[in-house]
Amino acid sequence: MTVSSLGSPSPGSSSPGSVAVPPTTPALRSSPLGDAFHVFDTTLRDGAQREGITYSVADKIAVATLLDDLGVGFIEGGWPGAMPKDTEFFARARSGELNLRTASLVAFGATRKAGLRAAQDPQVRALLESGAPVVTLVAKSDVRHVERALRTTPEENLAMVSDTVAHLVGNGRRVFLDCEHFFDGYRFDRDYGLRVAEAAVTAGADVVVLCDTNGGMLPMWVEQIVIEVRERTGFRLGIHCQDDTSCAVANTVAAVQAGATHVQCTANGYGERAGNADLFAVVGNLMIKMGLPVLPDGGLADMVRVSHALAELANITPNTHQAYVGSSAFSHKAGLHASAIKVDPELYNHLDPTRVGNDMHILITEMAGRASVELKARELGIELDEHPEAVGRIVDTVKSREAAGWSYEAADASFELLVRDELASGVTGVQVPRAFQLESYRVIVENSVNSAPGFSPVTSEATVKVHVGGRRIITTAEGNGPVNALDSALRSAVVGQFPELREVELVDYKVRILAGNAGTDSITRVLVSSARGGREWTTVGVHANVIEASWQALVDALVYALGQGSAEVGAGLDPAIGQSPASTRAGLTGAGAL
Ligand SMILES: [Zn+2]
Repeated sequence: MTVSSLGSPSPGSSSPGSVAVPPTTPALRSSPLGDAFHVFDTTLRDGAQREGITYSVADKIAVATLLDDLGVGFIEGGWPGAMPKDTEFFARARSGELNLRTASLVAFGATRKAGLRAAQDPQVRALLESGAPVVTLVAKSDVRHVERALRTTPEENLAMVSDTVAHLVGNGRRVFLDCEHFFDGYRFDRDYGLRVAEAAVTAGADVVVLCDTNGGMLPMWVEQIVIEVRERTGFRLGIHCQDDTSCAVANTVAAVQAGATHVQCTANGYGERAGNADLFAVVGNLMIKMGLPVLPDGGLADMVRVSHALAELANITPNTHQAYVGSSAFSHKAGLHASAIKVDPELYNHLDPTRVGNDMHILITEMAGRASVELKARELGIELDEHPEAVGRIVDTVKSREAAGWSYEAADASFELLVRDELASGVTGVQVPRAFQLESYRVIVENSVNSAPGFSPVTSEATVKVHVGGRRIITTAEGNGPVNALDSALRSAVVGQFPELREVELVDYKVRILAGNAGTDSITRVLVSSARGGREWTTVGVHANVIEASWQALVDALVYALGQGSAEVGAGLDPAIGQSPASTRAGLTGAGAL
């Protein structure tokens, strides 16, 4: 690996008109490579460009803390002075709300405006006022953008770069230069981008980041251009790739192979259009495949947790098939594979999933054989070795149910209930009673032309009759849709007996219509995801009627919640002494009109 050492600027000197804010203290813990290799995260700046992501300031602090846990070297927090929320983020970070152990906080901004001095430009001043010890300056490096978008001369653009970098360095900041549209510009005019880089380095910038802003590059082009630029300049180079050819990760790896020692990525590849280079895939590839220890100890094994937590903060469902960190990244479907995996997991995985904090999920499908069921049960903490007869029954049940439209692939909790029921009934010879038994439910949907102004004319109401704790309880609830009403009525009926169910939240609801065979009606499959105390589980229901399918999944969700944390077979299945029902909670946020 080549590292062109250009040295860090020395802090302290101050030029006239500047705002000298003491930068916060970075780097108490660092990767084995130290400053020789930078993992630079821009989830909070470039990643936040993705449609649908809106971070509050508190979210931004939580995101930065997670990235710091992982051990990245730099966290670009936003554009102070241009975005009020970013200005506030830096102010709160500086006031002590953000305590970074590994990372240095980075402010992002543009070079000064044409015709101004850097010291007079309020946007440059805001970068200093942010208190961030590091600044990434974005500069035009494609001469066509200078003339057509910036509407200034190529020479003035060079002066803007050099003046702004010198001003920031003079105020004790470390400066990285993002060369926007570098690759496209380099193909059009091989010299202009290099003159921009030279202006920055001469003024004190210590990394020149080559950006594939339009994301149109392929790995062999990136590698070639990075090699040429390195040979022609000797500058320390970084890489920033958008994913418009689905090559952002490959392009980043190619640039490192060609000598770049600074990689800019976003968590889970969040970013505008097709996204950015995914931090987790880049780090996984660099550390595991290329042997570069770019994170401190423990960082790699923390990837799954951090990836999922960041998805929650972005309010985006985690991509189950994401490389390295997806919950299915090491999943195997076929029964044939499963029996071999049991013998030697390494034969069927490109690495030991625990190295990145993942594990080897085994999907339960119509192809499930005995080995799949045993492995899946073990993953859930149930040993089936001593119950060979139960394994046979479970396999049969799974096969017949999946033929009828059930799917346990995404419904671990329903699968666990099935296994525990089979084990318990195998021991006792009788079906184990649930914690509550249904007598009946009824759902009414009404569309009233006489609804009050501002209220939806369509209302839903559900009545549930259940036996719980030796009592018969009847409850009625309204909801924004029939499933929501049913959920509220059921919880209301059982929460008096089981107050712990109050903390269970329904976090997602999915419906799929499965086509029927010739001459038969279609079937509805419902998946319900529930959560409590950071744990999430999914249950499934299947029926021709969407309400009944939903009911099944809702009941499984609550029964599973009652058994959670207890490895005992049959836990959560025993009714106790009755109390009166308490409050109703309206969950099912994802249910919409259901
Ligand atoms: Zn970008």
